[in-house]
Amino acid sequence: MIYLDHNATTRPAAEVLEEMTECLQQAWANPSSMHEPGQAARRVLSDARARVAQLVGCRGAELVFTSGATEANHMAVLGALAVGATTGRRRLVLSAVEHPGLLALAQRLQAEGTPVDLIPVDGDGRVSIAAASRLIGPDVALVSMMGANNETGVLMPVGELAELAHRAGALLHVDATQLLGKTAHRFDDSGADLWSVSAHKLHGPKGTGALVVRKGLECPALLSGRQERHRRGGTENLPGIVGFAAAAERAARTLAADVAGLQARQARLEAGLRAALPGVHIYGEGVARLPNTSCLRFGTLDAEPVLSRLERAGVVASSGAACTAGGTQPSHVLLAMGEGAAQAKAAIRFSLGRDTTDDEIEQTIAAARRVIAPLLQPTPASAE
Ligand code: PLP
Repeated sequence: MIYLDHNATTRPAAEVLEEMTECLQQAWANPSSMHEPGQAARRVLSDARARVAQLVGCRGAELVFTSGATEANHMAVLGALAVGATTGRRRLVLSAVEHPGLLALAQRLQAEGTPVDLIPVDGDGRVSIAAASRLIGPDVALVSMMGANNETGVLMPVGELAELAHRAGALLHVDATQLLGKTAHRFDDSGADLWSVSAHKLHGPKGTGALVVRKGLECPALLSGRQERHRRGGTENLPGIVGFAAAAERAARTLAADVAGLQARQARLEAGLRAALPGVHIYGEGVARLPNTSCLRFGTLDAEPVLSRLERAGVVASSGAACTAGGTQPSHVLLAMGEGAAQAKAAIRFSLGRDTTDDEIEQTIAAARRVIAPLLQPTPASAE
């Protein structure tokens, strides 16, 4: 199988499995226990925290480990709104192309009375700074923005948004889930106040992530309890956190080479598909994108039959976000970019991984030519 769905999730790396297994076997005590096994587990936790912080670009004390980016996003939004409420700031501003979990939270909050505004994006999927500056006023508590879109890979202008948010006295949260391990973006030079990450997007385990809370900022807990300096209750998922650390360390070590390899293969895939098939449209082609993501369509050929034929030919890709796969709804991201429903339902996302080989790219192009070309032939009826 050629797996080209790395934005949905990645295979845990060998060193991740190894360190997690060792942790489960040896550091299984509760890091809050005062006895020696507990204190040994606490040292493992503290070491893992430092290793994750190194890649994220923050202080260890700024990291709050969570069950993943969805929880981190919830904590950031609900925490920032609670902080804002103390000074009369109640409004939430977020982009129209956020992850479905975050948009669902915004919808729920709006139904409960929180004022919410969505910042539109342009045809390339980049958030409009002009619209953002109109929406970010003195009643805004939080601006929330993804660092890179999971469907198109398009990078968002985080620095400019940080400036706009701070000028208005608001906080900036960045959902950096797709940035970590695929770009050199770091929390400490981003200007953001809150920063969500998830281990399973960089060959770590599922169910582990973190919210970075800038030093000095209070972000109330979602789950009460004394762990994580009272910011996230519940016995820490130590094997998951250790797996995150192993994944982060490996990603930091090979990042530059990984990015160069991804960029070369992304370019090869896009050029190869274009040469092999007519009507290839690549989303966000003219703007800065993740080096691993190619979201494209073949004319308005529906994605579903293409994906199932590609899978039968041994290539696994996806249409839009994993959470909406299987549904028949067109991608909200592509609709927000101004695409029609037919175009949006035609979009296919190939997301490469650091282990994707040149040969796999060639095989993917050949498989696409084989299975898609017949679908693009005009039928006798439509040719009339
Ligand atoms: N945010 C973005 C941009 C994502 O791509 C994902 C991945 O599914 C998430 C949030 C959710 O992450 P998690 O699976 O860790 O909850």
